[in-house]
Parts: sequence; structure tokens; C-alpha cells
Amino acid sequence: MSTISTREHQMFPVLSPAQIEIAQRFASGPVTRFAPGETVYVIGAHDVPAWLVLEGTIEIVRRDGLNREAPITTHGVGEFTGEVNQLAGRPSLAAGCAGPAGCTALPFDAAHLRALMVGSDSVGEIVMRALILRRVSLIEEGGAGTILIGVPGMPDVTRLQNFLNRGGLPNLLLDVRDDDDARALVERTGVLPEELPLVVCPSGPLLKRPTDEELAACLGVVPTIDPERLYDVAVVGAGPAGLATAVYAASEGLSVIVLDARAMGGQAGASSRIENYLGFPTGISGQALAGRAFNQAMKFGAELAIPVTVERLECGEAALTLFCAGDRSLNARAVVIASGARYRRPDVPKLSTFEGSGVSYWVSAVEARLCAGQEVALVGGGNSAGQAVVFLAPQVKRLHLVVRRDLSQTMSRYLIDRIAGLPNVEIHIGSEIAGLEGEGASGLSAVILRNRRDGTLHRRAVRHLFSGQVGCCDVGRTGTPARILEARRPASPARHHNRVGSRDTQSACR
Ligand SMILES: Cc1cc2nc3c(=O)[nH]c(=O)nc-3n(C[C@H](O)[C@H](O)[C@H](O)COP(=O)(O)OP(=O)(O)OC[C@H]3O[C@@H](n4cnc5c(N)ncnc54)[C@H](O)[C@@H]3O)c2cc1C
Repeated sequence: MSTISTREHQMFPVLSPAQIEIAQRFASGPVTRFAPGETVYVIGAHDVPAWLVLEGTIEIVRRDGLNREAPITTHGVGEFTGEVNQLAGRPSLAAGCAGPAGCTALPFDAAHLRALMVGSDSVGEIVMRALILRRVSLIEEGGAGTILIGVPGMPDVTRLQNFLNRGGLPNLLLDVRDDDDARALVERTGVLPEELPLVVCPSGPLLKRPTDEELAACLGVVPTIDPERLYDVAVVGAGPAGLATAVYAASEGLSVIVLDARAMGGQAGASSRIENYLGFPTGISGQALAGRAFNQAMKFGAELAIPVTVERLECGEAALTLFCAGDRSLNARAVVIASGARYRRPDVPKLSTFEGSGVSYWVSAVEARLCAGQEVALVGGGNSAGQAVVFLAPQVKRLHLVVRRDLSQTMSRYLIDRIAGLPNVEIHIGSEIAGLEGEGASGLSAVILRNRRDGTLHRRAVRHLFSGQVGCCDVGRTGTPARILEARRPASPARHHNRVGSRDTQSACR
């Protein structure tokens, strides 16, 4: 059941006259009149306000990069336009034009919309919920955001799908082999097979096999970082610890920026179901948890810049300076390093050859679709591996779980019990991956398991290997305490140059 079919009344709430009166106090500009059919805002425009309709109607449409248009809704009196992008002035994913009788409406730019959320708990809650549900619906429908054109399972297609999905950015993959519109666009633009996937941004630009950073820039989701501005708090890492920091600091009225090299949610964003996090008795997926925290941070005005890699920290007298990839830098009074764990890859020959074409460190819906009905192997005995087994097993033919030690030494009891109830899971205790077989182009075809006790080798014909990574620094449970560095320096005038997250950084700047 789609969100729009079950929660339409919450997605498109109608404010009562009393609630309209409350909302009016937070408007960012005067009442504006639009003639019948006049454009109120277009897809891809930055800083589009949310409009509260006072008379008439505004018709909302979504359009994908191939110019396929679909109506979303018609807002009448007492309804707000917009979705979560309006909280941060990010490019609009939909377009609005005045209905046949025209309309009058009140604008709420990002700052005033956030002020409404915080200033009026009753109206703020209604509007916030509506904005989030509209985004959820756009993600489910897929047609309002970025179009990817390529072949499902291509490493770059999977990478970009994961980047968009983890960022909560609506997207749709068209298989160039059997979608006529997609093939026609590829032929018309002369894109070569090696330049796929082709990415069509909602505002029109075409990108050939972009990096995550290039795609983010095209989508306008990374705020411009002003090197002259002094933030109260800069947070490195948008995992649970970083996002929690952002929510608490921003809700105290501090100016906050969060930077993450990869995606919101950090490791937790990879979890199919977190069941031991306080307050979620039925469990919550890591992405849903991260999405909620992300929107909460935005509501209080935190800026979130993803993907941005922080490369260096310099501790000055009056400020701390973070130097980021792409020649960007920013200053802050305090820096919170919530960079989580660093990982090393398992030591298996040819592992990197198959990364993206059979070997994954991630189990999301994208990977699950690719190996549906097939035989797969999964390495690891921790809770994250256990969650992946519970998520994957019902979707695949057979799952080989490869672990060095008995599961009771490394995995929570509830996961061990659940795995025991899965008939298609074969557990290889005391085993490890000794080798991988396959050709680069066609991907992985088999894994070789080694029994660590007697050294015997066993071959399993699997096309997908999921591997946990081996942590080389300690991470605790969700919400690992972050490290806080402040600009108040000891007497020494020396300046320190450190890599973020290293032991040196902690000791030099604490
Ligand atoms: C699959 C999986 C399932 C899990 N399930 C559970 C569970 O059920 N219950 C539970 O309690 N825990 C679970 N965990 C563990 C939990 O997710 C982690 O303990 C938690 O995410 C740690 O949070 P964190 O914010 O400290 O760090 P992380 O989540 O690791 O986030 C750190 C972030 O910092 C970013 N970063 C690092 N360096 C830089 C840099 N130089 N510049 C910019 N950004 C940087 C990273 O990209 C990352 O997004 C699971 C972990 C995984 C992988």
C-alpha cells in the first residue's frame, strides 16, 4: 500500500481558520496574487518558499528528467505546498501553477518555515509530518527525481542508486536494454556504453557516469560552504552520533554544519532493522532512523553537507578550521568529531576485482533485488551480519553464512534464534573465505571456503558475496560518544595539523 493511499489526509492536511491565523504570523512575505494558470514555482528552482493557499488553488505536478509529467495534487484553501527540500531551500522537486480561478497565497521561505515548525507545536507538527510524507511518497513513486539510465547491477548503477537511496533522494532506474524512452535518449545524445549510467537530474542536466560528488552538485544538495563564516559547531560525520549532536546543538540556537563523506546515517544507515534502540519497540530500519534524524536536524536549522570529506583540522587561537576535499574550508568555535569506525577489508585475494560485481559490503534493497532467488554467501558473525541474514534469507534461494567462531560468542541471542528458524541458511562455523572465482566482466561465479581446523577447501557456486568489514577501532552501540574539540587553546601558540579521526587529532586538540 502506498503512502498516498493510506495517509493522504496527513500528506495534504487542511489547516483550520484558527491554524491559518497562527501560521500567518510566521510568513516571510506579503500575500501574493497569481493569475489563472500562472507559474508559482518551477522544478529545480532554489529557495522556493512553501505557499499557504488563502484563496483559489495551486496545482502541483512532478516531472522526471525525460519530461514525463504527472499531477500530484491540487492544494486548496488552508493547504501548504512543498516537501522537505523547502526546509533547507534545496531545489524544488515539483512545480506549481495557479488553478483556473487563480490564487492568493502566503510565502514561507526556509527560515520562516523552520520558525513555524519550532514556534507553533500544533501547526508545526502538522506541516512537518506532511512534508516528510510527501517526500516518502515521491521516493515510492520514483518519478519525480533523478532518472538513472543503465543496466541494473552495473557497479556504477548500484553505487549511484545507493547514494540516492541513502540520501532519501527520489530516483528511478530505467533499463537501457528494454525502455524505449531511455534507449532513445542514449542514442540521441550519442552516449557510449562505457559512459553509462546516464543520469538525468530533475532540473534537466545530463551527467555521464558521474561521481557521487558530481551528482550531489547537480542536485543542489550540498550547501555552499562559506569560508568566512564562523559556525558555532561543525560536526564531522552524519551517523547517529553526528546527527544527534546536530539536533541538540541546533535546538539550542547554535549555528551548526554537519559534514559527511558518504551518506547520512553512517553505519546505522546500512542496518535493515535496529531493534535495540530505545523507543522503537517494533524496530526501525537504519535509513528510516537516519531520515528522521536528518529532518529533525534540518528543522532546527542545521546545515547538512553530504558528500563532503573532511581531510584536515587546524586548531587556531580563535577558531578551528576544517579543510575539506575540493579546496573547501570552514571555521567553527567547536568541532565534534563523530567519524565512527575506520574499516579494513578482509584479506582475500582478488577481493577488489569483484567489488561492485559480486562482492558487497552493504545489504540494501538494491542488492537484495539483484540476488533474488539466487545462492549467496555472507561472511561475519556480528549483529550487523545477523541482521543482514534475517533480511536476505527470505529473498534468496540459499544463504551460506561463513563464520570463524560459534555465533553465541559474537551475536545477540534474538538474532541467533531468528536465524535458526530460517530453513535456507547453512552456517559454516570455523570457516573463512579462501578465494574467489570468476571473470572481471561477468563477475563472481564461486567462493572457496577453507575449514580452519583441517584446512579442507569447499567450493560454493555463488554469484554474490556479502562481507562485513573488520573494524580497526572501537565503536560502541548506536550513538557512540563523539569527540569534542573546542577553539579555546592552551597557552602554546603552536598550530596543529592533524588528520580527522586519528589518535593525533584527539590528543593534540583536546
Ligand atoms: C549493518 C549494521 C547494522 C547495525 N545494527 C545495529 C543495531 O541493531 N543496534 C546497534 O546498537 N548498533 C548497530 N550497528 C552499529 C551502529 O550502527 C554504530 O554503532 C553507529 O552507527 C555508530 O554511530 P556513529 O555516529 O558513532 O558512527 P558511524 O555510524 O560510523 O558514522 C560515522 C560517519 O562519519 C563519516 N566520516 C568519517 N570520516 C569522515 C571524514 N573525514 N569526513 C567526513 N565524514 C566522515 C562516515 O562517512 C560516517 O557516515 C550496526 C552497524 C551496521 C554496519
